[in-house]
Amino acid sequence: MRKLRWLRAPGIFKLLLPNFVWRYNTNHKKVYLTFDDGPIPESTLWTLDMLRGKNVKASFFCVGDNVRKYPDLYRKIIEEGHVVGNHTFNHLKGWGNNTQKYIENVIMASEYIDSKLFRPPYGQIKRSQAKHLLPEYKIIMWDVLSGDYRQDISPEECLNAVLKKVRTGSIILFHNNVKSEKNMRYAVPHLIDALLAEEYSFELCH
Ligand SMILES: [Zn+2]
Repeated sequence: MRKLRWLRAPGIFKLLLPNFVWRYNTNHKKVYLTFDDGPIPESTLWTLDMLRGKNVKASFFCVGDNVRKYPDLYRKIIEEGHVVGNHTFNHLKGWGNNTQKYIENVIMASEYIDSKLFRPPYGQIKRSQAKHLLPEYKIIMWDVLSGDYRQDISPEECLNAVLKKVRTGSIILFHNNVKSEKNMRYAVPHLIDALLAEEYSFELCH
């Protein structure tokens, strides 16, 4: 579970990588809902319908190969007014891949995903990789990890953990992948209702 420890402890990264966006600087009650790893038929369409029903916009960090497989879902994300970002073509781990291979994979994804936003899968990126991407991309991290992919927490625990951590300017990370579906489908609509009741607005990553 070493990987998870890193994902939950962005403090050290913040010091090492100050050019990344971890949270938006604002005095207003704004939050930034993000979904990684889609688009996939199992949950992206559901996510879009749910967001439309609540009149909320979000940012989708897409895997290039999924956009290649499901171009209609990708188009629908954009048509509905959401924002897309690049999440590599094959969901590569930055630490396990050399910089050239990593950058080539991002470029391959850019042929399918029209965006100047990038989020590294697993939050893993080497300094050399970031250096290549930063002139072209804004690298969007997060300050609230929902843990929706965790099989050891219930949907209610997932929701409560996010509610506890959310603050002004928070970037909240959920997933459009199969293992996150159960927690995500419960937590996101309840989270939206709770935050709207507290007069938060949902903004797009930029
Ligand atoms: Zn991912």
